[in-house]
Amino acid sequence: MALNWMTPYHVMAEGGDEGLRPMSELCNYDPSFSVPDMQARVSNLTIQLLFGFGDGDMTPLKPYVTEDLLEEFRRQAAEWAKNGRTLNVVRPVVLRTEMLGFEIENGEAYVHVRTQTRAVLYATDPRGKVVEGSPSEETFESRTWIFARGIDEKTGKVLRIDSQHCPSCGAPVNAYMSARCPHCGNLVPVRNFKWTACAVS
Ligand SMILES: [Zn+2]
Repeated sequence: MALNWMTPYHVMAEGGDEGLRPMSELCNYDPSFSVPDMQARVSNLTIQLLFGFGDGDMTPLKPYVTEDLLEEFRRQAAEWAKNGRTLNVVRPVVLRTEMLGFEIENGEAYVHVRTQTRAVLYATDPRGKVVEGSPSEETFESRTWIFARGIDEKTGKVLRIDSQHCPSCGAPVNAYMSARCPHCGNLVPVRNFKWTACAVS
């Protein structure tokens, strides 16, 4: 019996949403399911989202989110970029990734994950003047993601995300920590992640 759901982030210790089933029960359907692995991947995705808002390019998220959600992200990025503005995203960090639980509907499992992030976020106009936010203030944000997967899907061979290599330059990277290669600066995607984000609130 897999016990890898027993992490400090376990849903019972987090006061998760009412009506959701504890993550431990997902192991009944998928014994290899790993909460820490999913937390790492959701953290990575969250950082990619923040950088995406910054550079206006949501393409790196495409494999992991529904078309509708990708469109929503593009709309939000466009909102930031209106009137030639640039959103500056500095030192984004995921402080916490809480697995709130899951539900099953029409053969799909839906996992709810709450992320808390900290970053310096501010918008500048084409001349570089700060028009929203502040370069000297940290912004704290909370998001709840919903990820879907067929209930019959199983976790494949779990790759240790912290031993991943940068697809651009080959440098070892900890995608949990950065989502961006510390050596060459390129984004490091999450791999072998079968869950699809269908909502973020
Ligand atoms: Zn690299």
